[in-house]
Amino acid sequence: MSSRQITIIANWKANLPPSEEVALAKEIAEGVGGALQATGSPSSFRVLLAPSALGLVPVASLLRREYPQAGIEVAAQDSSLSSAGAFTGEIPAVHLVGIAPAVIVGHSERRRDHGESDEVVGGKLARVVAAGLAPILCLGDDLPEAEIATRVAYVEAQCAAAFAAAERAGCSADQLFAAGLVAAYEPVWAIGTGNPASVEIAEAIASGLRSALHRNELPVLYGGSVDAASAPTWFGTPTRRTALDGLLVGGASLHADRFVAIVRAALAATEPA
Ligand code: PEP
Repeated sequence: MSSRQITIIANWKANLPPSEEVALAKEIAEGVGGALQATGSPSSFRVLLAPSALGLVPVASLLRREYPQAGIEVAAQDSSLSSAGAFTGEIPAVHLVGIAPAVIVGHSERRRDHGESDEVVGGKLARVVAAGLAPILCLGDDLPEAEIATRVAYVEAQCAAAFAAAERAGCSADQLFAAGLVAAYEPVWAIGTGNPASVEIAEAIASGLRSALHRNELPVLYGGSVDAASAPTWFGTPTRRTALDGLLVGGASLHADRFVAIVRAALAATEPA
């Protein structure tokens, strides 16, 4: 059995008001708590919920107060390039301390809708690390028809550009890894389309990133149209795991039953044969 940790992240985006996020977190915590108890709660397993900015505090409080045994954490969907200070409307990473241990950085919707360049993504990575939080770096090609090698080269270059920008902002690659960096391969053409990438493509990206960065231990997640039915294929079996370390789930995570089924599929892959 592999000793790699599996991480499953729910990205709720801006779909729900905070009251509905709390209700969804409750349902998920009950389902995931039961599944973890049934399998003896492997320490090599992590579930994070990423509510909207307004939902972070109420969801984190609910999970801590009512479901501590489920071990579910929250992640922020984004944080600011700015430090704390006179920056109206911003959410500096340092303000997430004690609320969210991890922050998603560089999601393709931020890159597309807010013009976030690699420079901005790298600057945000540096802020997240300086705050003592773990960055979840989203990377992905917009090349639906490309050969695998072309995609791998594209994503490696995107990652290198974010690392170089983080370095310019004062955060070295070693600091990124020490902070618990997780990469998420999220091809733009697969997000919200019902058309996921193949496991073969995602594994090639994971291996390419690890070898380009000389970090075999880098956790790489896959995200893009994952649903309960396809969930088991992303993990393989306890004796033959895929090269992936988990999933970032958008649409399906808005339904407790579908998200809990994904978590169960991931747990099944970690159980001893
Ligand atoms: C996402 O946007 O991060 C995502 C994975 O979305 P979906 O699962 O809906 O494709």
